[in-house]
Amino acid sequence: MRNFGLFLICSCLGFSQTIEDRYREVSAKIIAEALKDEGGMQKLAYLCDRIGNRLSGSEGFMKAVAWSAETMKKEGLENVRTPPVKVVHWVRGKESAELVAPFDRPLGMLGLGMSGGGDVTAEVVAVKSFEELEKLGRAKVEGKIVLYHPPWVSYGVTGAFRRSGPSRAAKLGAKGVLIRSAGIPQPNTAHTGTTGFEDGVSPIPAAALTEESLTMLERALASGEKVVVRMRSEAKTLPDADGANVMGEIRGSEKPDEVIVLGGHLDSWDVGQGAQDDGGGVIASLEALVVLKKLGLRPKRTIRVVFWANEENGTRGGNAYREMLGDEIKNHVIAIEMDGGAERPVGMGVTGGGAKALEQMKAIGKLVEGFGAGAVTAGGGGTDIGPLMKDGVIGAGVRTGGGRYFEWHHTTADTFDKVNAEDFKKNVAQLAVFAYVLADMDVRLGR
Ligand SMILES: [Zn+2]
Repeated sequence: MRNFGLFLICSCLGFSQTIEDRYREVSAKIIAEALKDEGGMQKLAYLCDRIGNRLSGSEGFMKAVAWSAETMKKEGLENVRTPPVKVVHWVRGKESAELVAPFDRPLGMLGLGMSGGGDVTAEVVAVKSFEELEKLGRAKVEGKIVLYHPPWVSYGVTGAFRRSGPSRAAKLGAKGVLIRSAGIPQPNTAHTGTTGFEDGVSPIPAAALTEESLTMLERALASGEKVVVRMRSEAKTLPDADGANVMGEIRGSEKPDEVIVLGGHLDSWDVGQGAQDDGGGVIASLEALVVLKKLGLRPKRTIRVVFWANEENGTRGGNAYREMLGDEIKNHVIAIEMDGGAERPVGMGVTGGGAKALEQMKAIGKLVEGFGAGAVTAGGGGTDIGPLMKDGVIGAGVRTGGGRYFEWHHTTADTFDKVNAEDFKKNVAQLAVFAYVLADMDVRLGR
């Protein structure tokens, strides 16, 4: 497939060139540089080991902000800024759960973000769907601990019980909630993540269980005896805390006001190191700019990297960035988010800009096909760039293969050792090629 219907006039030479022809040579240089670059993995190791996890409102998050800005400056990015953002401030505190009847056993658990504190001992009622919960109704749910134990299907499907299960049970008078973790079952691992309580519903203790403890609870329930659990949690939500987005640029040579923005979120959950979610995303985005700078490439438009704040439990960074732009949003050509882990990149999902933008993105994809990262498909984006996409900016999300992301996601196991250097470097290469070509093409994406 050679003809993408997209021909750019190369006026100096007087002949038509496809994106693929025009950028093949420079892309090869970018890819070679990215694949041998060690700086990205070194930065990610620093973020993971020396700063560690960084939930919004924590000391770790503010350390990460300061280090990120300093690192961007050291790498020679322009206009490095840390616009302040008020962030949600939830703290976990001590937490535990134990089976007290029909026998005594501690339960492996991890509290859900935004859940409430308390010391609750109550009988367990188990459901596998929201329909089952509604059928039980207030009569059978009030005063109980609700256990959601649907099978693991996918993050989208099973994750629904984490996202709204506690609120729905609390509305019926439940005193606590336990869930099957919203992740691929792993030995002795529970997956946290945010849960939301509807307005007027007070947060209750809510936790994800390890597969070992969940299945033990299921066996206890199957015995027909009364199953009682004690949940203790010091979790609380404090007033909003100080935070910041972090951003830096390679300014465009001809159209500096037109911006290609790429990035991920700097905050992470308060367990593990936030290596795959989303340390890999922010550092690969930054390293893409570093690679372009090393090669002395300055495209026509500006490439901006943003480390957004508070994605995990507030989306405050993405919203604040949108607000900061004001009318300037019209100059945002595309927003690219990498927040699906730093596994092997396979392509990008694109939303907005119509058939033209998709066709142009597919043409750029051809340039990274050599290492398998070129499959551009319709539909994609990211939480942090959501506010931009809602207001008309074309959005794209990096798609990765490998399939292990949801084993580590939101767990104590999301640590640096889970990031494969080769895969990470391919992400850098993919982002650098896309960012450079999008910023340098004669026509603006979608036109
Ligand atoms: Zn994430």
